[in-house]
Amino acid sequence: MSQPVLDATSNQCFMCRSRTLQQIPAIWDFSMTTAGVRVAEPLSKFQCMTCGLLQRAEIRHLGSTDFYENHYSFYERPGAGIYDQPRYRAMAEWIKDAIPERYPSTILDAGCGRGWMLEAMKGVYPEALLMGIEPSSQESKNARERGFNVLECKVSSDEKIDRKFDLIYSTNVVEHTSDPANFLGTLNEWLEEEGCIVITCPDSSVPSSEFMFSDQNFSFTPKQLVTVAQSCGLHLLKWQGPPAIDSVQNKQLLVFVKGKTNEPQLPVEPSPAELFQLRKAYVQAYSACDDFLLKQVSKYENVYNFGTSTFSWLLSCYCPKYWQRVTHCVIDKPEAGSSFQNKPVIDRSAMSLTSSSVICLGVNPKSQANLQQNLSSLGIEIIRWDHMISC
Ligand SMILES: [Zn+2]
Repeated sequence: MSQPVLDATSNQCFMCRSRTLQQIPAIWDFSMTTAGVRVAEPLSKFQCMTCGLLQRAEIRHLGSTDFYENHYSFYERPGAGIYDQPRYRAMAEWIKDAIPERYPSTILDAGCGRGWMLEAMKGVYPEALLMGIEPSSQESKNARERGFNVLECKVSSDEKIDRKFDLIYSTNVVEHTSDPANFLGTLNEWLEEEGCIVITCPDSSVPSSEFMFSDQNFSFTPKQLVTVAQSCGLHLLKWQGPPAIDSVQNKQLLVFVKGKTNEPQLPVEPSPAELFQLRKAYVQAYSACDDFLLKQVSKYENVYNFGTSTFSWLLSCYCPKYWQRVTHCVIDKPEAGSSFQNKPVIDRSAMSLTSSSVICLGVNPKSQANLQQNLSSLGIEIIRWDHMISC
């Protein structure tokens, strides 16, 4: 099978080449990136009705501009360190547990960001030589400051590197590429004969917040990602759903090798028609959520959005009527003077706990029940919206 060639502006499926792309309706003429940058571009997500692949079409991909090189720095968000570092440790354990029989001595992080995942991997493979590759100049610099050797470039067949690796892993990158086949094919080139590639990315067989971001060009179900990998000569050794911990949700982990395998069985997936309906309903839920939240907060003077997580980004973008009413974001111990999507960020001790104040939970729907309970002693109303958007 030859590698598919992507034309980002065409209305043709990247994977199966059919021309049955159908747009997931979205009312906004703006969107959010996974770096928390609001861009004046519609979401523009299309689904192939033949194979079900969700892809960004009829618009340039941010990855084909200088976006990742110059405008992408994921962690510039108040409080991110507290929440994200444990997540990376959990991801590193997840990878190690998926390949228990392997002891890689050379490891490459494809899309290493500022090196937090490399640091977490060093914790589980202390003897290994770890390297990263990263297109963002700022993030490459950040990772080097942590002591890692980082190549500043994209993973692409245009890049020649002079060594191979026992383990290449990539966390949440493949869905951002403009050409996932070129990405996986390049990693295959850089892999030792007996090595393995571990890919983690969102599992799009269940709609979730992942596809509300416009710098994400593809959303793969397990079967779809395996199909693309096979077109690059990679064979699936193992597939896993997310571990049972809150910080790694809606993700999948796939282990690929060069040689033939027994091809493990993949979970049953919804049909393309079913997927389309689920995805459409998921996007529409944000509009309904905006109306709901606006109504809930309308009689209050102090509207505290609790949290600065990626879900708060999504609320700030896709629930604009609500966001306009937000007076503060609240986290524990923010740096003085910090702000989040144009709202001042304050410590929870600085909230005014009167009858004119309300808290709306700007956190992952899966955490809202617990958080509501934790905050109930404050004695003011707490608004959840996990009945409208569940993941
Ligand atoms: Zn298709």
